[in-house]
Amino acid sequence: MSKVVAIDGPAGAGKSTVAKLLAARCGFTYVNTGSLYRAIAWAAAKSGVDVKELKEEFLSALDLDYVDGVLLVNGVDPGSELRTVSCAAGASFVATLPFVRKFLLPVQRNAAEKGWIVMEGRDIGSVIFPDAAYKFFVTASVEERARRRMAQNVNESLSFEEIKAAIAARDHQDSHRAEAPLCQAADAVLVDTSALSIEQVVEQLHDYIVQNPREC
Ligand code: C5P
Repeated sequence: MSKVVAIDGPAGAGKSTVAKLLAARCGFTYVNTGSLYRAIAWAAAKSGVDVKELKEEFLSALDLDYVDGVLLVNGVDPGSELRTVSCAAGASFVATLPFVRKFLLPVQRNAAEKGWIVMEGRDIGSVIFPDAAYKFFVTASVEERARRRMAQNVNESLSFEEIKAAIAARDHQDSHRAEAPLCQAADAVLVDTSALSIEQVVEQLHDYIVQNPREC
């Protein structure tokens, strides 16, 4: 069993905030995996490469490294540039490429070598750490996720309907791809956050961990 709390679920369900707070509360390291896919899309855009034309060789020149929890792409912190809708769409596309997922597998598995982690993504409980000590599938309705997205100031002038459509499109792409599609692992605990505050979700997950100790 790996010392991993796997938190999977669709975009905008509150996974990142919950995972960060839960990690702090448990004294575990927080690892965000969506940033890895976003970083590849970002690096491609910076190099003038269309993600649809991305080749495996592009990755051999790419160094992805977490330094104090900050993801550096060839030594540079892309910061909020990773959070744009275009970067998310590019990430969702590169995530369908088998060679990208293969490239990122060891990067993610290495993250658990130094002790307990809370790792957040789409396939953590199903593919990256099928033997994770704890697995949660955190979700919320598309409307609620679009509302939350609008409330985050990401410096883009999209309407509520446009954001909702972008989220629904990404859900569809993430759940229908052949490689590691977004799905709830059979042994994951389902958490619907639509009507819950962040604090209530963190409390629920923390209580579950405390009440279900694992031998790792
Ligand atoms: O979580 P985030 O929205 O940053 O993820 C960006 C994209 O990366 C997702 O839409 C998904 O396609 C992909 N992803 C993935 N597997 C993960 C994390 C993210 O396929 N473990």
